[in-house]
Amino acid sequence: MKYLDEYRDARVARGLIAGMARRVTRPWVLMEICGGQTHTLMRYGIDELIPPEIELVHGPGCPVCVTALETVDKAVQIASLPGVTLVSYGDMLRVPGSHSDLFHVKAEGGDVRVAYSPMEALKIARANPERQVVFLGIGFETTAPANAMSVWLAAREGLKNFSMLASHFLVPPAIRMLLESPSNRVQGFIAPGHVCTVMGYGQYDELSRKYRVPIVVGGFEPVDLLEAISMLVTQLEQGQAAVKNQYVRSVAYEGNRPAQEIMERTFEVCDRKWRGIGVIPQSGLRLRQEFAAHDAEKIFEVAGTTAEEPVECISALVLQGLRKPVECPAFAVRCTPGTPLGAPMVSGEGACAAYYQFRRPSS
Ligand code: SF4
Repeated sequence: MKYLDEYRDARVARGLIAGMARRVTRPWVLMEICGGQTHTLMRYGIDELIPPEIELVHGPGCPVCVTALETVDKAVQIASLPGVTLVSYGDMLRVPGSHSDLFHVKAEGGDVRVAYSPMEALKIARANPERQVVFLGIGFETTAPANAMSVWLAAREGLKNFSMLASHFLVPPAIRMLLESPSNRVQGFIAPGHVCTVMGYGQYDELSRKYRVPIVVGGFEPVDLLEAISMLVTQLEQGQAAVKNQYVRSVAYEGNRPAQEIMERTFEVCDRKWRGIGVIPQSGLRLRQEFAAHDAEKIFEVAGTTAEEPVECISALVLQGLRKPVECPAFAVRCTPGTPLGAPMVSGEGACAAYYQFRRPSS
């Protein structure tokens, strides 16, 4: 149990908090990018334990939350077609689209299945040659290599009934967008450890230099996050802006080259719409033209689908660290995990779901 016990050690945590309290001299606003990190911060009450000068706001790193409404609508459209099996990660089934969600398509007889990996979808395609099997491939740089591998294998095997509705996101362009926003309040970032395990952290050097902002790659346990916060506070108090790696047990500067190579062979960088936020240039990955035979958008001709966000959901502000979920008028009233208005209330990594679980007065 080496890597659980020592990263949840209360004595170590208290020491880090006391160290920050000695060093901090003025207010700082820090953002964790990843929704998994948000949940750890809420679960362990870290935001309430650190010195009050340090404010934590939550970033756009929950893949289910930022997947565009159009993508959900396209998945619903495709899954409703006869002869199609749509395979998805579980969280995506309850994400509301414009008029329906995948759960309702399934309830009405559609063949919608939950998988933990795109390789399961590939197996379903091999076993059911009479059906068109579509994998809803969403996520950040973390899930992109496995998704890329499934398409590459399908192409190599000549598997004609497997395709992907791909909607991948890249973290660095989102940080750039936040830093260039006139309303930005964030002074330091905790970069997502799992994304950096794949991509390394060299790609954050330019951001840190150009915008004079400290960035620390952080893990997911409470001591990881306290250490990352402490490293950011140290830099800010000393007027430094550099990229540092707290998550050394998993992340190397150059990342995982074989994973990057399969991504580069299969995907190309494109503009991508983030739910609620809008299009961020060069912030996504799409399948290369040579894999068009496995691109569900092209096969099912749904590329032109557009959709409007519900006015009541302020998730765009939540995902940019401009509002906390409890500041949303619908929070825990009209929007709950059972009746979600927006994706951050559905996802296991969503900030609204984290506040609902750990910060409601009755929770
Ligand atoms: S509480 Fe619900 S409606 Fe409000 S921002 Fe979060 S997901 Fe959207």
